[in-house]
Amino acid sequence: MKKIIKCVVCNSENIRKHIISKDFSVTSEEFKIDKCLDCGFVFTNPIPKEKDLPKYYISKNYISHTNSNKSFFDKIYQSIRSIAIKDKFNLINSFDTQNKILDIGSGTGEFLNYCKLNGWKVKGIEPSKIARDNSIKKYQFEVDEDTDLRSQSGEYDIITMWHVLEHVYELENTIIELKRLLKENGKLIIAVPNLNSYDAQYYKKYWAAYDLPIHLYHFSKKSITKLFGKHQFNLLKDKGMIFDSFYVSLLSEEYKTGKKNVITASIIGALSNIYGAFSKKGFSSTIYIFEHKNR
Ligand SMILES: [Zn+2]
Repeated sequence: MKKIIKCVVCNSENIRKHIISKDFSVTSEEFKIDKCLDCGFVFTNPIPKEKDLPKYYISKNYISHTNSNKSFFDKIYQSIRSIAIKDKFNLINSFDTQNKILDIGSGTGEFLNYCKLNGWKVKGIEPSKIARDNSIKKYQFEVDEDTDLRSQSGEYDIITMWHVLEHVYELENTIIELKRLLKENGKLIIAVPNLNSYDAQYYKKYWAAYDLPIHLYHFSKKSITKLFGKHQFNLLKDKGMIFDSFYVSLLSEEYKTGKKNVITASIIGALSNIYGAFSKKGFSSTIYIFEHKNR
């Protein structure tokens, strides 16, 4: 295990326990989540060594990687996903930029394929070999294994990371790489779970988006803005993701009660969206759009 002594965002050593939770889906191992009392950054601590992390992904039912189309819930998930893909595309297409996009964590490639069909030049990065091979075979675009794109710089108008940043082992180095890969006035679009959402506060240690230990960081609007601000990124805007609250609540109910309480989960999911829209808590997950300040 690797213990974190200093806050990644502000270097403070003023760190206290936030909550103890566990890996509900694979190993049942307990993990601690800490909070920096100076800047509010929340992170898993200690974290597994990088070489040990893959075992926590094994057998996790990652629908986004398998693209299965079997059960009723999978079907609902797939149809919501196609709406979500259109929403994501409309967002990237709304900026006044050229059309070259890098999607980090491109999964089975549906989002990038949609971009490609709409005239964008696309490239993906996906560490999972199964997902990578599937997307290359099905959609014929370039997908690399990792972010080691040292031969490239200032290439991309948009870089997207949909629910990926919370998994990234080398957080600071990754942000430096992102900065290098973006064109001037390029946009960085980052979607992550929101620790302050109603569903997070309702489910506490059972909140599925803690997803221990593979989620290494648990962001809020304040902490992610501060982290990127440190690397000269300005937050242009943020946007709630209204489907995530339902998916996360369904899983959280199952972790909490051992049952699929669809009705309770739907109520909590809906309440989370209402609080997201009308209070400062924010939505279950948030999309942040950053722009680099000065080159
Ligand atoms: Zn801090």
